[in-house]
Amino acid sequence: MEILPLEPFKVVIDGIKEAGGEADKFCYQCGKCDSVCPWGRVRQFYVRRLVNQAKFGVVPFESEDIWLCTTCRNCVQRCPRGVEIIDVMRSMRRVLVPDGVVPASIPNLRSVMTSLASVGNPFGQEPNDRAKWAQDLSVKEFTEGTAVLYFPCCYPSYDPRLKKIAQATAKILTVAGVDFGILGSKEMCCGESVRKAGNETLFKRLARENIKTFIDAGVKTILVSSPHCYHTFKNEYPEFKTNFEVMHITQYLFRLIKEGKIKITKEYKKKVTYHDPCYLGRHNGIYDEPRDTLKKIPGLELKEMADTRETSLCCGMGGGRVWMETAKNERFSDIRLNQALDVGAEELVTACPYCITQFEDSRLSLKNSAAIQIKDITEVLQEVI
Ligand code: SF4
Ligand code: SF4
Repeated sequence: MEILPLEPFKVVIDGIKEAGGEADKFCYQCGKCDSVCPWGRVRQFYVRRLVNQAKFGVVPFESEDIWLCTTCRNCVQRCPRGVEIIDVMRSMRRVLVPDGVVPASIPNLRSVMTSLASVGNPFGQEPNDRAKWAQDLSVKEFTEGTAVLYFPCCYPSYDPRLKKIAQATAKILTVAGVDFGILGSKEMCCGESVRKAGNETLFKRLARENIKTFIDAGVKTILVSSPHCYHTFKNEYPEFKTNFEVMHITQYLFRLIKEGKIKITKEYKKKVTYHDPCYLGRHNGIYDEPRDTLKKIPGLELKEMADTRETSLCCGMGGGRVWMETAKNERFSDIRLNQALDVGAEELVTACPYCITQFEDSRLSLKNSAAIQIKDITEVLQEVI
């Protein structure tokens, strides 16, 4: 452990202030954060200790703990002192990741940052292939005057499993008669995960490039699949003086149903449970629209798991953890899948590409992986309209 001189300590404190937190509202070590942190279910991890270290300008260079926080926000909503714990974690990472230099012990995060810097997506994929998910669909390029920009972001653009979410979304929007378009190769990663992983410089670069593209194209309304894009476009891009209308697909689907633009015509006779993604629920208060949409589907039986809504159990992929390895016996998603099975769910439905990736992985590790299916809410809806 190393005591840092004044400058890095200032980065921690400035980071908290910059993110809207009050650096002087510091912890009185009650331990409430430790009692609600999901890491407590799988291993030892002391949030309060890290917060205390940050207060005194101590950033434990060798500690893996700095990289564990998934930014799930469970501790923040319970802290009696209003400590912006996520900003503390992020700021400590910022001390360790000056301009993209991340510890050699997290090699994947390093290569993700290199790919984002060079081609604008974390997979090192060709930008010209970004719209390939839409090639058999009648999806147009966004041009000035198009009502809605659909922004699928990286996973639904490139990952074979998650392309199905972008395709389901496009089909639903087409059936509903929505005037929408995509940016294709001009779209770049929203940058949310690298910011939480401490690379502020790269985040700002991605954000500025996306914002310039949006303004040049005349974008006013942005529709997203990922709660991480939603959060960053809605709550973080305004740091660059933006004023776009941002909608998550769960909000928009419910609006289209209420307006009669989507008509549910088929039954869905399945027991379904809904998992609240942290960045949709705790970070942005969107709990009801996805449930209200599912409740409109005849035959669908909605079951609530333990740890639901405000206390939803994180899937483990936020805060840049999506780019880091998690030991098999330390996956929150394994616990979550068992919670879904405990309530008799045949399908776990959610609304986040990161959650789906992680739950699909956990499903394959079940003794009977056919016992439960993982679906995005758009994949359910496209089957009943
Ligand atoms: S809950 Fe808040 S006040 Fe209590 S130990 Fe954690 S950070 Fe400190
Ligand atoms: S945000 Fe979530 S993972 Fe991070 S310290 Fe708080 S409770 Fe733990």
